[in-house]
Amino acid sequence: MRRITSPDLMQQLALRWKREKVGQRARIALVPTMGALHEGHAELIRQARKQAAHVIVSLYVNPTQFGPKEDLSRYPRPLDADAALCRRLGVDVLFNPANLYAPDHSTWVTEEAASLGRCGGSRPGHFRGVATVVTKLFALTQPDLAFFGLKDAQQLSVIERVVRDLALPVRIVPVEIVRDRDGLALSSRNRYLTPAERNRALALPLLLQAAVVQPAPAAWFRTHITRLPGLTLDYVEAVDGRLCAAIRVGKTRLIDNLPLLSPAPRKRAKRVKQGVRSRRLA
Ligand code: AMP
Repeated sequence: MRRITSPDLMQQLALRWKREKVGQRARIALVPTMGALHEGHAELIRQARKQAAHVIVSLYVNPTQFGPKEDLSRYPRPLDADAALCRRLGVDVLFNPANLYAPDHSTWVTEEAASLGRCGGSRPGHFRGVATVVTKLFALTQPDLAFFGLKDAQQLSVIERVVRDLALPVRIVPVEIVRDRDGLALSSRNRYLTPAERNRALALPLLLQAAVVQPAPAAWFRTHITRLPGLTLDYVEAVDGRLCAAIRVGKTRLIDNLPLLSPAPRKRAKRVKQGVRSRRLA
C-alpha cells in the first residue's frame, strides 16, 4: 500500500491508472473517509476491493464541513491504526493530504434541495463543505466507483444529486449501515461516549426499530425519545422511505436511520384473515 499526501501526485497516479486496460472491471474505486476507521468503513473498503482494480481510501478531516462550534480540533486521528487496517484490507493507496484548500479558496459546490433540513438544518454549511470536498476528491482520484454509507443517508442523497446535476463520470455505490452487536450504528464519534452515555445512546437504534412499524413513525419516535433522560432530540423525519434521526448524548451528536415498514400491508393481512374467519363462521 502506498501512502500519498501530495494532491498532485495522487492525481498523476489516478490519471495513469485511468488509461490502463483492465477488461470489464472498474479501474478505480474511491472510499472517502475522515479516518478513525471502524467496521463500517471496512465494509465500504471490502466492497470496493471486490469491484475495482485499484482502491483508494481518502483520509481527510475536512475543515469546511465543520461548524465553528463543532468537534474539528478534537476529531480522532489514529493514523497508524487506520493505515494498518487499510493495508490489511488490500487498499492500494491511502490518500492522506494535509490540506486541500488554497489560502484564497473561493469555489464551492452548493446543492440546494437534498441539503435542506435535517443535518443541513442543524449544521449550516455542512453539506456545502461535503459536496465541495467530495467533488475535489473525485477530481484528484478519478474514480469509476465511489462508496458511501447509508448511515449518512442525507449525505448520500446530496452526493447523488451533485453527481447527476454536474454529470460527473462516477457511479455512487451505497452500502448498508454496519452496527455493533447491540444495534448501535458504528461511528467514529462513538469514541467520545462514556460507558453510561453509550448505554443511553442505544435508545436511538431501539426506538427507530420500534418506530418504523408505527402508523406515524416520526411522531412516535419523538414522543418516546423525549421521555428519556440524558438525551436531546435534534430531529426525526421520514424521508425517501427511511426514518432518520439525530440526537445528542452529552456533547456527542449521533445520527441513524432505518427503512420505514409501512403498517398498511400488515393491517390488510389482518383484515383478510378476519374476513376468512367471519366467512367460516357464517
Ligand atoms: P466518515 O469517516 O464518518 O466521514 O465516514 C466515511 C464513510 O463511511 C461515509 O460514507 C459514511 O457514511 C460511511 N460510514 C460511517 N459509518 C458507517 C457505518 N456504521 N456503516 C456503514 N457506513 C458507514
